Amino acid sequence: MTDTVDDVDLPYDEDASQQEKIEALRQRLQVVESQNEEMRDKLLDANAENNKYQQKLERLTHENKKLKQSPLFIATIQEITEKGVVIKQHGNNQEALTEVTDEMLEQIEPGTRVAVNNSLSIVKTLDDETDVRARVMQVEHKPDVTYEDIGGLDEQLNEVRETVEMPLESPEMFEQVGIQPPSGVLLYGPPGTGKTLLAKAVANQTNATFIKMAGSELVHKFIGEGAKLVRDLFQVARDHEPAVIFIDEIDAIASKRTDSKTSGDAEVQRTMMQLLSEMDGFEERGEIRIIAATNRFDMLDRAILRPGRFDRLIEVPKPGPEGREKIFEIHTRNMNVDDDVDFSNLAEVTTHASGADIRAICTEAGMFAIRDGRTNVAMKDFQDAWAKIQAEEEDDDVSKTFA
Ligand code: ATP
Repeated sequence: MTDTVDDVDLPYDEDASQQEKIEALRQRLQVVESQNEEMRDKLLDANAENNKYQQKLERLTHENKKLKQSPLFIATIQEITEKGVVIKQHGNNQEALTEVTDEMLEQIEPGTRVAVNNSLSIVKTLDDETDVRARVMQVEHKPDVTYEDIGGLDEQLNEVRETVEMPLESPEMFEQVGIQPPSGVLLYGPPGTGKTLLAKAVANQTNATFIKMAGSELVHKFIGEGAKLVRDLFQVARDHEPAVIFIDEIDAIASKRTDSKTSGDAEVQRTMMQLLSEMDGFEERGEIRIIAATNRFDMLDRAILRPGRFDRLIEVPKPGPEGREKIFEIHTRNMNVDDDVDFSNLAEVTTHASGADIRAICTEAGMFAIRDGRTNVAMKDFQDAWAKIQAEEEDDDVSKTFA
């Protein structure tokens, strides 16, 4: 290794002429200059690389800091007062007064959803995309279910068409006759009998957007937001007219009042009140029809059944033998079924089966065929499937008894 200038060998002999010495030194200088140039390039590259790593480091440090931060909570602005902004936290439903910057003040109004930190300062507002309503509402533009997909509910279908389809398709007839079409239709009956199917089919027939929301989700999943969600539900419907709003499990928000004054109850009450007031203002609502469904008709608060609300009640029972046969035919339309499969016989034996049960029997029969290495489904597959489904239901009943 070379430490000092004295250690460097001279590029010429002691006895070389002056001229030779100059030439040798010039050559050495050229080499050093080109090496210098090379080093400068390398240094530049290294600097650029360094810069890149520096930026990466900054980004990772920032991300790390963010990850270490405590999570933000979601709240809704209740009121903007001179003393501050009243927010209500979701989840625990607690109200708090917080201060906001002038800049933030411009972005919020009562009802705005915001993210707050541990000290309940508003960190940011949440826009519609992160809005809770997107997660609880099922919006389908013209669902693909048609009247032909529904078996054994001819009477119910006619009633739904008369009360939902006609006002959407020929509102002028109601005007000319001088009557208000019913605001809401309530479908009630055991689970899996086709209530959702009826609502979807009528939305399809009228080219309407189908907006579904479950009553239980309204009150249990997003505590403190039920009333707002109901408002949102009707707003989404207005934005997508013509629309059919389908509220499944309406009993969760409209069951008979109990005497207890727990906050949960108050919340359910508020949600129902909001629904009633939306329905009472129905005339101005234009092309929106409301269908609700329940398995627990006995539980319903009579307030929702008053005229002008859900005043058309349609019972959707389990299918009789004829209905069951029709439902078997519907659900085997695309199946490779043997010629000797007798749907009328299957319909006779599957007493108490709902439409959903029959669909399950058909799928299960197909599975039996597949397990057996066949692509055709035989009568025995359907019989075995029914036996299996009955056994499962019995197991279910037993476990419920011991639960
Ligand atoms: P729940 O009360 O449990 O919400 P529901 O009455 O709304 O039930 P659906 O969701 O309409 O029942 O039915 C479930 C499935 O069962 C349907 O997607 C359909 O495949 C089948 N099904 C039920 N009833 C019928 C029917 N009458 N005709 C044809 N298929 C049916």
